Amino acid sequence: MPVIYVDPKETSKTCPKCGNVSRYNRKIQGWFKCVKCGYQSDADRVGAINIAAKALDALGA
Ligand SMILES: [Zn+2]
Repeated sequence: MPVIYVDPKETSKTCPKCGNVSRYNRKIQGWFKCVKCGYQSDADRVGAINIAAKALDALGA
């Protein structure tokens, strides 16, 4: 397994569905709700999805 450095900055406020980055997506503690498309999920889960997506990007997948 290659080790990939992923910048965690903004992963917690980026919508994994539409890519919208806003601090208002994180108005509720521990919960993510996109102000643009309405996608919502557990904040930790969203962070993990975004980090995984960034890792795939870094691999060129
Ligand atoms: Zn969205």
